[in-house]
Amino acid sequence: MLELRPTCENCNKALPPDALEARICTYECTFCASCVDGVLGNVCPNCGGGFVPRPIRPSRNWKNDNFLGKDPASSAVRHRPVDPAVHARFAAEIGSIPPEKR
Ligand SMILES: [Zn+2]
Ligand SMILES: [Zn+2]
Repeated sequence: MLELRPTCENCNKALPPDALEARICTYECTFCASCVDGVLGNVCPNCGGGFVPRPIRPSRNWKNDNFLGKDPASSAVRHRPVDPAVHARFAAEIGSIPPEKR
């Protein structure tokens, strides 16, 4: 199941389960949209893949207990800010390759 991490890994901004600005990579590394666009260049600093919007987990029990009340968001903060200069080199190396071809 997707881990709904509580904050942006770079700037530590709160990203509650209903945050439309939450972005995730395939390993669930979680960042806010402004860091993805402004700092990361859509390159995950941990794996080099791209990001997509994080889906909203339903807050209501519409069906079969598949909802936040049973599967709540994680409270484990992962705050590992990127070094912008280091990441710029990393992103330049692979950022020109479309995410589906990395
Ligand atoms: Zn951020
Ligand atoms: Zn990643």
